[in-house]
Amino acid sequence: MLENIIPDIKFLAGVGPKRAELLKKELEVVSADDLIRCYPYRYVDRSRFYYIHEISSDVPFIQIKGQITRFEKHGEGHTQRLVAHFTDGRSTIELVWFRGIKFVQEKLKTRTDYIVFGRPSLFNGHWNIPHPDIDSPDDLPPAEQMGLQPYYNTTEKMKHNFLNSKALQKIMANLLLQIKDLEIEETLTPEIIKKYSLMGLKNALFNIHFPLNADKLNHARQRLKFEELFFVQLHILHQTKLREQNVKGFIFNKIGSLFNDYYKKYLPFELTNAQKRVLKEIRADVGSGRQMNRLLQGDVGSGKTIVALFAMLIALDNGFQAAIMTPTEILSQQHYDTISTLLERMNVNIALLTGSTKAKEREPLHEKLQSGDIHILIGTHALIEETVKFKNLGLVVIDEQHRFGVAQRARLWQKNTQPPHILVMTATPIPRTLAMTLYGDLKISVIDELPPGRKPVQTYHYFMNKRQALNKFLAKQIDEGRQIYIVYPLIKESEKLDLQDLEAGYRYICEVFPQYKAEKVHGQMKPKEKDHAMQRFVSGEVKILVATTVIEVGVNVPNASVMVIENAERFGLSQLHQLRGRVGRGADQSYCILLTSYKLGADTRKRLEIMTETNDGFRIAEADLQLRGPGDMDGTAQSGMPFDLKIANIAQDGRMLEIARKVAAEILAKDPALLAEKNFILKNQLKKLRKEPVNWGLIS
Ligand code: ADP
Ligand code: MG
Repeated sequence: MLENIIPDIKFLAGVGPKRAELLKKELEVVSADDLIRCYPYRYVDRSRFYYIHEISSDVPFIQIKGQITRFEKHGEGHTQRLVAHFTDGRSTIELVWFRGIKFVQEKLKTRTDYIVFGRPSLFNGHWNIPHPDIDSPDDLPPAEQMGLQPYYNTTEKMKHNFLNSKALQKIMANLLLQIKDLEIEETLTPEIIKKYSLMGLKNALFNIHFPLNADKLNHARQRLKFEELFFVQLHILHQTKLREQNVKGFIFNKIGSLFNDYYKKYLPFELTNAQKRVLKEIRADVGSGRQMNRLLQGDVGSGKTIVALFAMLIALDNGFQAAIMTPTEILSQQHYDTISTLLERMNVNIALLTGSTKAKEREPLHEKLQSGDIHILIGTHALIEETVKFKNLGLVVIDEQHRFGVAQRARLWQKNTQPPHILVMTATPIPRTLAMTLYGDLKISVIDELPPGRKPVQTYHYFMNKRQALNKFLAKQIDEGRQIYIVYPLIKESEKLDLQDLEAGYRYICEVFPQYKAEKVHGQMKPKEKDHAMQRFVSGEVKILVATTVIEVGVNVPNASVMVIENAERFGLSQLHQLRGRVGRGADQSYCILLTSYKLGADTRKRLEIMTETNDGFRIAEADLQLRGPGDMDGTAQSGMPFDLKIANIAQDGRMLEIARKVAAEILAKDPALLAEKNFILKNQLKKLRKEPVNWGLIS
């Protein structure tokens, strides 16, 4: 858009080669287009002057007109500060500097008119303004023209090089000045702009940086948010259309003897209605001739595994192989055990492949995969290694998808010339808005019903002082035959410290409960040791398992009835929910105890409150999105977003996202390849936005 007008930002007033380099490194700003899309993160009203006596804690920023009457220097060396007494003609206030004192003293004069702008702070009962902005009235436009002043994000490095928010503001002003009288290409069609009463692009860009008033700012924001969301949707839906045209799916058109035998003879329980419904949806997909891309959402314990099993049997009945991919070895092993047991009396060959599969076992395994002797392969991402080749892989089930990056899935996809059907299972429900942003045609199935006889887990939040009472409760549970999980946080940066916590916790438990066997499990243990400890817990021999979050995913011990989470304040919501899902899998009443220290931030309180209030995974996921924002969602948002969102916010702009999606869908319905002349603008803009080397069209 601007590259013809400003081919290189280093020639822009206020930039230069050094700053251009800095902008590139720190903000990934390369072109004038990038620069103008660096939106302010906040605005401050400079449209009026205050009197010093009006200062109060309600006024975060203040602008005063007046003169410096005298300077004073206090302290020595480190503690040195410069104080200027500033009067507005009625009263005085102190302006204070702790750094750059020499510079300030040289620049500022007494008895000269200045406009002072800054954030007042209360010190020893008196207001002062530390490090204010000071301008000569001649340098600034009249106050009423100043309006809302933009503040820009900068980095430490930029600030060191005097490229702070104010400097950026000046650069931005220069940029806008240069293009003031020029025509700027629109990125949206006149049709869209008119229909949704959007502000024109040029107008919006001017008003986002230097809003004339709050109303204009609001309009500018709406326009830019809409544009962003619209192109994300247009991109996703466009890719989806392309794929639907170009990619055929294997057709599984028969339900054969494996499926029927298992259903009639060996299924250990009646499927829930939700499970039946989801199976029907999957059957329709794999029979359609299109490649299936389905997300199966179901809360922990809702019975996703059996659904996956039936889907795999359909593949097998149609002469194809199937695979399950999991994020951890423990989970692979568990699926392998579960599925081997379930299919015990059927003629199906199942194999396990993980990072710890020995080299000498791999070779025969590879051969059997290629000859088709292995029907179902279960494993970690070892499955997608180059060397692993199938005879005819027809279906891949990915369990607990939030652990996988999207790129990994793209790789899986390339294993065959014709892609296998894909079923992604997750217990971390993706809120609707996020799913819409990330996945175009990823169809969603929901198991919204737990198998009969389950009692919802009761959740309580206790402070540390309840430990005695808690111990009594735990002993009672164990005496009734139950087992206990105690989980400690483990966060990478402080791994050592965290392990100390876990070790101390384990010793404490051994001391308090000498009569019960306890075990510990953490990520630093060898897989063998870990497995051994887990097995002793699974078998019921060990009553208390002290662990880090390695147990978060998928472990199934129905007899465990209490989940104690230590330092619960350090876990995210979805993690807490996952952990809680480890209990409540049997017929007994289960409990989740969240232990925290006394000092809790507002967000933490909110998280704990939600946990004690609800077991509903969807509500929790929504709340998580609200509290953390999409950027933080495990693996999903980060790796899946086709391009960055600079101004829109998935958590807050859900409504607009839906409109943007609708508009994009309507356009593509009439013009799937965007060939119409009027849609040229859109096609062009899409091309510009697409920088990612990965072919996102392959996955969805
Ligand atoms: P998740 O959805 O968390 O993966 P699982 O598939 O591990 O859940 O199922 C949890 C437990 O519920 C397993 O022990 C499984 O055998 C059992 N289960 C699944 N479906 C049913 C059903 N329809 N009736 C009774 N038990 C079921
Ligand atoms: Mg599971």
